[in-house]
Amino acid sequence: SQIMSRGLPKQKPIEGVKQVIVVASGKGGVGKSTTAVNLALALAANDSSKAVGLLDVDVYGPSIPKMMNLKGNPELSQSNLMRPLLNYGIACMSMGFLVEETAPLVWRGLMVMSAIEKLLRQVDWGQLDYLVVDMPPGTGDVQLSVSQNIPISGAVIVSTPQDIALMDAHKGAEMFRKVHVPVLGLVQNMSVFQCPKCKHKTHIFGADGARRLARTLDLDILGDIPLHLNIREASDTGQPIVFSQPESDEVSYIYKYVFYF
Ligand code: ADP
Repeated sequence: SQIMSRGLPKQKPIEGVKQVIVVASGKGGVGKSTTAVNLALALAANDSSKAVGLLDVDVYGPSIPKMMNLKGNPELSQSNLMRPLLNYGIACMSMGFLVEETAPLVWRGLMVMSAIEKLLRQVDWGQLDYLVVDMPPGTGDVQLSVSQNIPISGAVIVSTPQDIALMDAHKGAEMFRKVHVPVLGLVQNMSVFQCPKCKHKTHIFGADGARRLARTLDLDILGDIPLHLNIREASDTGQPIVFSQPESDEVSYIYKYVFYF
């Protein structure tokens, strides 16, 4: 049966987790992790009865520790599972908790796969209504492996309106469709910058790219988030904007997509 099952991984739910939402992007740097963090916080803020977790499987460039202002080694439970670290009411797990911050992650495929296996199967989440998963950018082995190993309620794809980002986002959407993960829709990020002095609006990466792609792929636009200094500062200081400035305009854009879940 070893041989029979090779290449046909079985989907097994993560214990205690009701719904898994993956946040993906084609390209790096488009705001995928920022979206994952703020989506997790917004889901929790929107309904305080919901327990929300955040899993960072971006093993090469984990950004959740910094964005969620968390550091340290997870404790082990009695059954030898890693306990997530908690901040802002969100249970978090990241490769960044398991390796030195500056350690070069020059990993071979097998090591990456065993790290993913650990993050998927050896965490004691308790009971979660939502687990938001921050994927690595692109459509490689990690994305495939996560999609094939756990049942996923849906994928959110983040892109800027720039052609090069959209092309890769398109590939991402196709990959999820191939592995039968429902794509919930696209989040268009960094679409417009408004000068804080003169209020002039500039579409730095283009205006409607993600909307066009959404039409092509017959997907919804879940949110359209401006490029704003507050969002960047909030992320970089580990005080995500949904937590630190819940009343801001920027957050109202983020809130719109929570209502899809
Ligand atoms: P990815 O996960 O796609 O690599 P990140 O979420 O790490 O992207 O975002 C890349 C950088 O851009 C981060 O410094 C983040 O704070 C910043 N950023 C993301 N979205 C916005 C936005 N809407 N406005 C301003 N800065 C943003």
